[in-house]
Amino acid sequence: MALIIKDTCTACDACVLDCPNDAITEGDPIYVIDPLRCTECVGEYDEPQCQLVCPVDECILGDPEFQETEDELQAKYEQLHE
Ligand code: SF4
Ligand code: SF4
Repeated sequence: MALIIKDTCTACDACVLDCPNDAITEGDPIYVIDPLRCTECVGEYDEPQCQLVCPVDECILGDPEFQETEDELQAKYEQLHE
């Protein structure tokens, strides 16, 4: 599933450059993940890089609106990087 940034985001900018899919952008007032580009980092990393670097606990969580299997996430990654 895609991840979603909660409103506890402090807009620190730490997560943006670590996303392999350019899925994170600055929003107003918090940063935003494009669910059509987020693969949970499948295709590049073993775990979501944005969650690793975010200094705020539980700020970035799974988005239940965008449930996807590992295979679907991999296919999404490959489509994004054709
Ligand atoms: Fe980007 Fe990975 Fe975070 Fe998704 S989980 S927004 S692909 S860094
Ligand atoms: Fe917001 Fe966390 Fe990204 Fe910083 S790293 S902009 S607090 S989601």
